Amino acid sequence: TVQPIESAIELVKGKKTLRDYEAMKLMEIYGIRTPKWGIAESVEEAQRIADSIGYPVVMKISPDEPVHKTEMKGVVVNVEKDQVKDVYSQLSKITKRVMIQEQLNGLEVYIGGIRDPVFGHVVLVGSGGIYVEVLKNVAYGLSPIYEDEAQELLMESKIHAMLTARKRGYDENSLIRTIISVSRMIVDLNIREMDINPLFVNERGAFAVDVRIVFD
Ligand code: ADP
Ligand code: MG
Repeated sequence: TVQPIESAIELVKGKKTLRDYEAMKLMEIYGIRTPKWGIAESVEEAQRIADSIGYPVVMKISPDEPVHKTEMKGVVVNVEKDQVKDVYSQLSKITKRVMIQEQLNGLEVYIGGIRDPVFGHVVLVGSGGIYVEVLKNVAYGLSPIYEDEAQELLMESKIHAMLTARKRGYDENSLIRTIISVSRMIVDLNIREMDINPLFVNERGAFAVDVRIVFD
């Protein structure tokens, strides 16, 4: 008998969507790991955060509403120390806040959640990244999802095969735990629509990099 998490309810109360940094905090409340991250509102802050994360970093716009950041030329990867200043000034023309993240490697996975009028809360799992609409290897499961079913979703979507190809040793258990957490979160908070795209899965675990959440 799991209770909704008090601090999560507090965080989302009265909101229609979450900002990127709020969504990151929500992930952490549900035990879903995130890359090291920080929000900068000045060049000095950007440099301090990037230094503390370690290079290279990823820098991206931090809009008030969810948008396709890449389409707005709002995501810059492989940023080295001597580039932080220029990238910050470029991105801060688009949004005042700029998010800085640890740059991760691994397999990019998509985890979605929707509330369907007939089936209730549904979890979607497939290939992630900016080609999610192209690849279409998505498998569906009804909340609540438990370990066996999460494993089936990974077989069906071929994510299991991708994770284990060439003995990469990516942490599939972390991905399974993340799917279970998402399945719980969307019910707990009655989320209308969400996606984690991408979730990076590597040898160290599974990390939510970009999260979009919509409430009623
Ligand atoms: P959007 O989906 O809004 O365009 P994302 O934050 O998902 O923005 O970034 C787009 C792509 O940039 C990701 O699919 C991923 O390939 C890459 N990327 C973003 N953040 C990171 C990160 N922290 N580490 C490595 N790659 C990243
Ligand atoms: Mg994305």
